[in-house]
Amino acid sequence: MKEKILMSKHELCPSCMEIHDVHLIETETSTIFKGIKINCPAKYFFCNNTKEFFSDEELLTNNIQIMKNTYQEKISDSLKNDNYS
Ligand SMILES: [Zn+2]
Repeated sequence: MKEKILMSKHELCPSCMEIHDVHLIETETSTIFKGIKINCPAKYFFCNNTKEFFSDEELLTNNIQIMKNTYQEKISDSLKNDNYS
C-alpha cells in the first residue's frame, strides 16, 4: 500500500485527543462496489500516536464520490471492450 502525505495540520487529534501534527494522506484502496472490484485513491487522516487512520464526514463523502466515479469508468470501459469481442 503506497501512501502519500498531502498535508499536515497542527490540531487536536480526535484519535488520541492530543494536539499534534495530523497528516492528511492519500492511499490506494481496493474495494468491492456493486460486485465489481475497483482500485481507487482514498484520503484519510493519520495519527502517528495511535497509528490509526480516520476520516471526517467531508473526507468520507469525497472518498465515496471518487469510488463511484472509478466504478462508472470501469463499467464503461468493460462495455467498450465488449464491443470489440
Ligand atoms: Zn493523534
